[in-house]
Amino acid sequence: MQFDLVIKNGTVYTEKGFHKLNVGVAGEKIAVLAEPGVELEGNKVIDAAGKYVLPGFIDCHCHLRDPGLTHKEDFYTGTMAAAHSGITMVCPQPNIKPVPSTLEAYMEEVKAGEERAVIDFNPIGCPLGTPEDVKQIAEAGSAWFKLFEKVATYPYNTTAGTLDTHRIYEAFRAVAATGKYCSVHPFDKYFFDAAVEKIKAEGKPLTLENVRHLWYSDEEMTGAAYQLSYYAKKAGLKWYAMHAWMPGYIDLVRMLKERGKMTIVSSFEYMPAMDASDEIYHIDSGKYIYLNHDAKPDKAKIWEAVRDGTIDMIGSDHAPHAPEEYHPEDALHTGAGFAMLDYFGHLLVSHVNEGDLSLERLVEVTSVNFAKTFGMYPRKGSNLPGTDADFTIVDLNQEWEISEKDTVYTKTQTIPYVGRKMHGKVTGTVVRGRVVMDNGVMDAQPGWGKMITAENSK
Ligand SMILES: [Zn+2]
Repeated sequence: MQFDLVIKNGTVYTEKGFHKLNVGVAGEKIAVLAEPGVELEGNKVIDAAGKYVLPGFIDCHCHLRDPGLTHKEDFYTGTMAAAHSGITMVCPQPNIKPVPSTLEAYMEEVKAGEERAVIDFNPIGCPLGTPEDVKQIAEAGSAWFKLFEKVATYPYNTTAGTLDTHRIYEAFRAVAATGKYCSVHPFDKYFFDAAVEKIKAEGKPLTLENVRHLWYSDEEMTGAAYQLSYYAKKAGLKWYAMHAWMPGYIDLVRMLKERGKMTIVSSFEYMPAMDASDEIYHIDSGKYIYLNHDAKPDKAKIWEAVRDGTIDMIGSDHAPHAPEEYHPEDALHTGAGFAMLDYFGHLLVSHVNEGDLSLERLVEVTSVNFAKTFGMYPRKGSNLPGTDADFTIVDLNQEWEISEKDTVYTKTQTIPYVGRKMHGKVTGTVVRGRVVMDNGVMDAQPGWGKMITAENSK
């Protein structure tokens, strides 16, 4: 038999561990996993000798700004950046225009994805419409729901509006009725405002450098998370503990999992793993335009939680802004967050070589756990014959450095982490049989990306 694609000589992830296997792909599906002695003929052949063939990485948390804010990013540029570092599916978050809190708005986002995405996707709905709206979005296939908490002074103008805790509880009840998960970005407006007042009282200018380290503290985020976990339990909600990176928040998730009294899944978003000294380089202007100044989380504790199963998934939190939207001298009106999908997959691979997690655990937190939690397994995350031929091909031996001269596909044309030494690289991205990236060279088609749901994964 002549296959459409053959990936030969690689070490392939399977449910029974890693094995040297040759992969035959027919159309969009894995047709066969053959022993190394069995030669497969293919119209296209990738030699993966010395490399690992993993189930496609899924980014559970990114912002693609489409529709409505496409001067920052859109489904095409954002998914190109994602595929560039090995991501085969993304979940765009709902702070777009219009906010996907009605079926009509949600389907507008799905349509944008179907027209422009080069990899698969599932947009995350916002549960701030009526209970009937929430039900309709759930039935349309949103993997889960997400909202922001107490965002009156969020440093950029989120489109989701200001929330109170009673409204969050009502949203939890509406989502619980659908059987889907719901996540909240845990904040506390009063801690946030107090930080601003403190800087003003000290007579200092309200720059990002002065105030940023006081925001999103352990007290703020963990306090909010405790309250949310109670509302979730009370509402009978499957709680998605998102942004679980502060020490007390990690301890809370670990305790709730051990007790086993509620359904809970958690993710750590990669962005806070940035060092406070990391700057964002803008290719077109040749300038460094944004310095992170983040609250410094306990990175050792985060990676321990990734290893021991407290944290189930890692999202990029790719959060691009147009270069002219950064005003670090004015903390309340600057873009916060930055584009990182061009590097996210490579960074995760590098963490394997740096000893933060095993390759097997990487597969779990980037693919298997997502697919199982949101009802897409084994279509995604399994590498089983008959399932989608999504692969992230990884060379653990390549040493390289992130450079100002890199090519990136994010619309922002920005590069984080210039100068970071990388240990390992993603060399191939295959999405339902199509080789979208091969050794850094893109061969993508807008509209190739499909909306993947629990419902169409059965
Ligand atoms: Zn985010």
